[in-house]
Amino acid sequence: MKACVLPRAAPVESAPLVWQDVADPVAGPGEALIRVRACGICRTDLHVVEGELPVRRSPVIPGHQIVGEVVALGPAPNGGGGAAAPARPAGPPLAAGQRVGVAWLHRTCGRCRFCRSGRENLCTDPDFTGWTVDGGFAELCTARADFVYPLPAGFGDRDAAPLLCAGIIGFRALRLTGLDQRGWAGARLGIYGFGAAGHVAIQLARGRGAEVYVCTRDRTRHQALAAELGATWVGDAAERPPVALDAAIIFAPAGPLVPPALEAVDRGGSVVLGGIHMSPLPEMPYDRLYGERVLRSVANNTREDGHDFLAEAARLPVRTHTEVFPLGEANRALRALKDDAIRGAGVLAI
Ligand SMILES: [Zn+2]
Ligand SMILES: [Zn+2]
Repeated sequence: MKACVLPRAAPVESAPLVWQDVADPVAGPGEALIRVRACGICRTDLHVVEGELPVRRSPVIPGHQIVGEVVALGPAPNGGGGAAAPARPAGPPLAAGQRVGVAWLHRTCGRCRFCRSGRENLCTDPDFTGWTVDGGFAELCTARADFVYPLPAGFGDRDAAPLLCAGIIGFRALRLTGLDQRGWAGARLGIYGFGAAGHVAIQLARGRGAEVYVCTRDRTRHQALAAELGATWVGDAAERPPVALDAAIIFAPAGPLVPPALEAVDRGGSVVLGGIHMSPLPEMPYDRLYGERVLRSVANNTREDGHDFLAEAARLPVRTHTEVFPLGEANRALRALKDDAIRGAGVLAI
């Protein structure tokens, strides 16, 4: 097969991904072999490619928002390995020809105290698609059958791809704001950074009845899209929204946004950090956090998050805005992501 392989991490401007022939992957026990139709690009791919995340497999094929078709199934799993993890909803077994989505969480151990308490996103021995195992910047990939998602029929392949990380992480970030408990109707939510995750999260938040205040740079792309998707107010990256917020989510990987976001939330409010990597957080006066404000990160997602999100996305329905690049042009796509030049979500497609 053809794949975009990363021999060694380097700035994306130097085009570190190589489009080349590699051996077809083979489905192991409990795995499915999947023909990739589309694969979303994510800031985490950029962190892998540029080495901001430590090297866990080399060379590696990045990509963890895969929409594809099951080609074949490997032999039955030989016990253990997390196959009985509690978050797996009962459903029909996978079949050849079925369309599925593959996300960041490739596998969990099923045995650690996090896996056994419904917190598999915090597993101590996980694998991640496109980082510790090969991902979807390729014509074929393999995935654990119990970690793939059936996809709602209403989404085309390219439209569904950004749901698989940007969408799921946005959903989990919304969950961690605490607004599920306090009530979404009339809640004031801030979103800092308006890329792929933000443009899905705003649709969920508005669907639940919240007002959304968006702080983002780039007037022509991100700010315009936020306004189009119904933001109550749109400002620059660290601009102070006109009202006190109940919660805020920072999707931009910029630590300096934390103090202004804490300043924008009211007493008792929360600031949720959506990225896997962020530049250092600056020192700040304790007053910014005092008043029972909460600052927390989001780490990965559970399969339950994924299934719950896809059901809500289909119900609304969420409409993704995508910019499509040929599969072999991952360098160019990631460069565009780095340069803030993508409106909505970037997707590689066959
Ligand atoms: Zn575990
Ligand atoms: Zn991602």
